[in-house]
Amino acid sequence: MNNQEKNDISRRSFISSAGLLVAGVYLMPKTVFAQTPSPVVTIINAAKTATVNVTKLRGNINVLDGSGGNIAVLQGPDGKLLVDGGIGVSKQNVLAALNSISNDPIKYLVNSHWHFDHTFGNQWLHEAGATIIAQEKTRKHLAEKTRVVDWNYTFDPFTADALPTVLFKTEHTLHFNGEKVLIKKYPNSHTDSDSSVFFPNANILHVADTFWNGYYPFIDYSTGGSIDGMIAAAEININKATKETIIIPGHGPIGNKQHLIEFHAMLATIRDKVAVLKKQGKSINEVIAEKPTAAYDAKYGGFVIDGTFFTRLVYKGL
Ligand SMILES: [Zn+2]
Repeated sequence: MNNQEKNDISRRSFISSAGLLVAGVYLMPKTVFAQTPSPVVTIINAAKTATVNVTKLRGNINVLDGSGGNIAVLQGPDGKLLVDGGIGVSKQNVLAALNSISNDPIKYLVNSHWHFDHTFGNQWLHEAGATIIAQEKTRKHLAEKTRVVDWNYTFDPFTADALPTVLFKTEHTLHFNGEKVLIKKYPNSHTDSDSSVFFPNANILHVADTFWNGYYPFIDYSTGGSIDGMIAAAEININKATKETIIIPGHGPIGNKQHLIEFHAMLATIRDKVAVLKKQGKSINEVIAEKPTAAYDAKYGGFVIDGTFFTRLVYKGL
């Protein structure tokens, strides 16, 4: 395998958590965010051919993985409601996956936050019939030119047909297919407008990108994210979940309350270690040299963000 092939696999891992487990992505994940051109471009290119898998969870809720963030699907006689829509270039595979669940029409799409790997499906899903629901700042970011420094990428504004039209400030409730759909904004965490979606009858909670199951998370300081906000969101998720709650993370395999607790402990422990070192006056490179993430790298460092990159993200917020 040459380096280009290794890189291709590494990039593909970002959009396919299932592939992550089998494709040997531990080869080069650390380089993903440091590349020029932006990883956003290579991730979108890889999504064109990504496999999209369907997993039935509970009640009439399925999850699709393979195109950007995890996509939750509530289906039934009222039609389909999606939480996140993946990357638009995966349209054919996402559509085939949706049709494999049922022929019910697509009625609603909830954007959990504004990031491209959750919203670049907005346009085709709206054309297919979806009314798009989002927190008002999510719409604002999508409607403007927005730069994410740590992705080295500037996003153009969405066209009007891809923008959310049903907006809320703190929460929004729908009744759909006999299920309640409770959408609720977090305080600033991964961005400034992450929103969870809870299905109380099925007891399933989609937690947006406040939780990456088994991976260090990205934190988007460019649009209001912070390490302390991520820790606070993890606490909110733990308090909301019962032992039986199925957790749909933004990225990674389906989880449960125990996974949330472990993720929170990882975030809080690394935060405190980095804070002590920074307070001693150490530079970012000196802190990285002390390897404050070492105890967690085997478990969380095998995806897009390795221990060094995560240390930078934490240091930046303290
Ligand atoms: Zn995100």
